[in-house]
Amino acid sequence: MEKSTDLISVVLPVFNEEQVIERTIDTLEAFISNQPQKFELIFVDDGSKDKSVALINEAQNLHRNIKVVQFSRNFGHQLAITAGIRYTSGDAVVVMDADLQDPPSVIVEMIKKWKEGAEVVYGKRVSRDGETFFKKITAAIFYRTLRKITSINIPLDTGDFRLMDRKVVHELSKMNETDPYVRGMVSWVGFNQASVEYERQERIAGESKYPLSKMIRLAMDGVTSFSAFPLQLANWLGTLSIIFSIGYLIITLFTGFKTLQFAVFSLFLLVGLVFLSLGLVGSYLYRIFEASRKRPLYIVAKTSGFQSATQEVHD
Ligand code: UDP
Ligand code: MG
Repeated sequence: MEKSTDLISVVLPVFNEEQVIERTIDTLEAFISNQPQKFELIFVDDGSKDKSVALINEAQNLHRNIKVVQFSRNFGHQLAITAGIRYTSGDAVVVMDADLQDPPSVIVEMIKKWKEGAEVVYGKRVSRDGETFFKKITAAIFYRTLRKITSINIPLDTGDFRLMDRKVVHELSKMNETDPYVRGMVSWVGFNQASVEYERQERIAGESKYPLSKMIRLAMDGVTSFSAFPLQLANWLGTLSIIFSIGYLIITLFTGFKTLQFAVFSLFLLVGLVFLSLGLVGSYLYRIFEASRKRPLYIVAKTSGFQSATQEVHD
């Protein structure tokens, strides 16, 4: 195989993955040994409470290319990715799940497209094995809606499995967003973007670390950081209610049509709409509040495997 001088960084967020982490490392190292490029594996431990870190540290004795960034607590998947890419030094950076749902073989195709000139190569899921019907249907509806209400072109059926050129990573590292929605930010950055299709595998072991509450939070972050549509919706709902009530007033003036039930129904409907709008405005306000505190996005407790302890790109 022809030798390449490229270094590829792989970023893997890890949260309580003791059941899969060894197999993930073995699979990736076996994959890497057949590739012409050099690879570094950067595991970001997102405050795991199990043996994940100990197992990765053990693997570091065998494999010199494994690096670990350890958070002081659980900051969430999106921040783990955000931190991970800042610690990379590769010419290209791949982000993937630590549970082997994203098959390493797809990376070969991503590298090929990158060599052909694409600066972002995202993985497009053509099928999702072993995921609940609920997850698939909510994801399908969510991504389609998000696409309609944002001005940026967020590709459909795409998670965070993607390859990015160093240029893209450089731009992303400068974006210091609280509650980042990384896949949206990558679209926002632009550059030449291409896709490879792949079949998302079943998680090899353990359970999803994305309960419904985290899914909803991620979805809200996606919407509030890229769209003002919900705020405009409040305008429209208000306008519609006003038109409706004027119409109702006119009808009652002419026909005397007024029933208590209808009045009660409208009252509840309107109170509902008012609270909904208030909640939406609140979500945006809270984002502003969070950003205004200027806290660090995450706290790194420890790193290991890096040449110098502070390799983080501060640019
Ligand atoms: N993850 C994380 N922090 C969290 C939740 C998840 O770092 O708070 C990691 C997790 O270990 C995995 C990746 O993010 O490597 C995706 O999570 P998961 O596989 O549980 O999500 P799913 O594939 O079920 O959507
Ligand atoms: Mg997964």
